[in-house]
Amino acid sequence: MLDHSKSVGIQTKENNLENYEAAYKDFSWVDVEKAFTWSETGKVNAAYEAIDRHVMEGKGHKTALWYSDESRDEKYTFGDLKTKSNQFGNILRKYGIGKGDRVFIFLPRTPELYISFLGALKVGSIIGPLFEAFMTVAVKDRLEDSEAVALVTTPSLLSRVPLDELPHLKHVILVGDDANTANTISFEKEMASASTDLEIEWVDREDPMLIHYTSGSTGKPKGVVHVHNAMILHYQTGKWVVDLQEDDVYWCTADPGWVTGTSYGIFGPWLHGVTSVVRGGRFTPTDWYQTIEKCKVTVWYSAPTAFRMLMSAGDEEVAKHDLSSVRHILSVGEPLNPEVVRWGLKVYGKRIHDNWWMTETGGTMIANYPQMDVKPGSMGRPFPGIYAAIIDDNGNELPPYSMGHLAIRAGWPSMMRQVWKNEAKYQEYFRIAGWYLSGDTAYQDEDGYFWFQGRIDDVINTAGKRVGPFEVESALVEHPAVAEAGVIGKPDAVRGEIIKAFIALRQGYEASAELKEEIRQFVKDHMAAHAAPREIEFIDKLPKTRSGKIMRRVLKARELGLPTGDLSTMEE
Ligand code: ATP
Ligand code: MG
Repeated sequence: MLDHSKSVGIQTKENNLENYEAAYKDFSWVDVEKAFTWSETGKVNAAYEAIDRHVMEGKGHKTALWYSDESRDEKYTFGDLKTKSNQFGNILRKYGIGKGDRVFIFLPRTPELYISFLGALKVGSIIGPLFEAFMTVAVKDRLEDSEAVALVTTPSLLSRVPLDELPHLKHVILVGDDANTANTISFEKEMASASTDLEIEWVDREDPMLIHYTSGSTGKPKGVVHVHNAMILHYQTGKWVVDLQEDDVYWCTADPGWVTGTSYGIFGPWLHGVTSVVRGGRFTPTDWYQTIEKCKVTVWYSAPTAFRMLMSAGDEEVAKHDLSSVRHILSVGEPLNPEVVRWGLKVYGKRIHDNWWMTETGGTMIANYPQMDVKPGSMGRPFPGIYAAIIDDNGNELPPYSMGHLAIRAGWPSMMRQVWKNEAKYQEYFRIAGWYLSGDTAYQDEDGYFWFQGRIDDVINTAGKRVGPFEVESALVEHPAVAEAGVIGKPDAVRGEIIKAFIALRQGYEASAELKEEIRQFVKDHMAAHAAPREIEFIDKLPKTRSGKIMRRVLKARELGLPTGDLSTMEE
């Protein structure tokens, strides 16, 4: 096990959650609900709460969205977003699209994506956001499964949509095409004449608002359905975990094709009326640091894969930029290696706060909070109002340091309400009465911090010992030559399984037999002899999902010569 003693204690001066213990003890979701309009009407609309409410409260002039890429630099106020989303809502209505209809958005990360998203939400449609990088199979699978009736896309992305194989898809709205043609609707042309007044569709809090397909790390992506009620959790975690404050300039780097890009790229900041930065185009370290510098970003939410890439870009790159505006940094999506936390503290002077949650949970379940000590390598502690535990196969809660299912007591505001058209799959998550099973394994320490071990299916059983791939990967990336590592169990006649590591080297390092041996020895010295990979293979790039997660199942299938399964979410 990793050394838990190296906690890092830089405190954020002022933050929204001053006393975690007290908040945890006295918490009630009903108190949070009072922040919303529905307490009087019983009906609600998440887009109204995120945008229009601030305009009603006199903040219409405040910047909501600050968008930039290589060629554009645009600011949209809450007032602008209210008007434009009203117009888009009217376009949908004009074509008979409304409550419960699945409207998919397949756009680059541009203002039009956010406008369409909010407009569709306002008329009560269920939104399916798709990564711009998806290819034909991924797009088709999702449009088919959800029976989407409308799609918002661009002329060039439309070439990846097999229209004649999608009988349910009745309307295609094109951004960047100024003529309505026989089969498509022009976003620009319709927006120019659409009314800026819209009668919002007030919905029940249990009405669906989103279908998010999961990342596909472990298998075929599931269509996870979230309801408007989820915003209660988005709001409160936005306050206590993301620590959003009135004057923040907040940057969540995630694409809305991934749940982080909606829960914390749309709802978290805008429910708090905070300015949100969106950076279009591709990732480069220089670009990212320039974005922080230019926008004076104060809160920055990203993912381990990005932090690892920034780390391999080197400390010199950081030194070229003024990042002093940053107050709070967060990460989610994969285990955050302790080495990355320590590096972040060194170069940014800030801890990176790890968060654990998943598409199905709709928002943060376990977090490192601004005012608590971070134990590098730990995901932190449960959110107030959330009861998380380590349980065995029969639902018994296990004592500290026992590895088991990471489970959450079922029933919280943003819990998924269905897996689209797959009730059996949905029920699998709840097969132990009273619990939601995450599919991850972890243990808890005596301070109540959770430590991720791996996906249930990824845990390696070697010579009678259970080893979580994450701890081995974390030990590997502490070696100066290792940029990233993916670890799998490989069947072995004697040991049950042996540990095999796939390693991408940092720039400037050459693959060699000596280096393999040195790395193996390094893991033995830093972790344990039984955890040292018996096999190491150097590869240029690890297979990853669009949301940046290492696809261990692909490494394993390739290694064993088995079919790789659904690859629709894999990066090229
Ligand atoms: P699929 O369900 O399709 O296989 P996925 O599980 O990767 O894909 P997501 O919902 O995007 O899809 O990711 C949730 C998973 O990501 C969690 O179950 C967990 O395994 C991993 N994860 C998220 N945050 C963390 C974290 N802080 N530490 C470790 N693992 C994390
Ligand atoms: Mg999953």
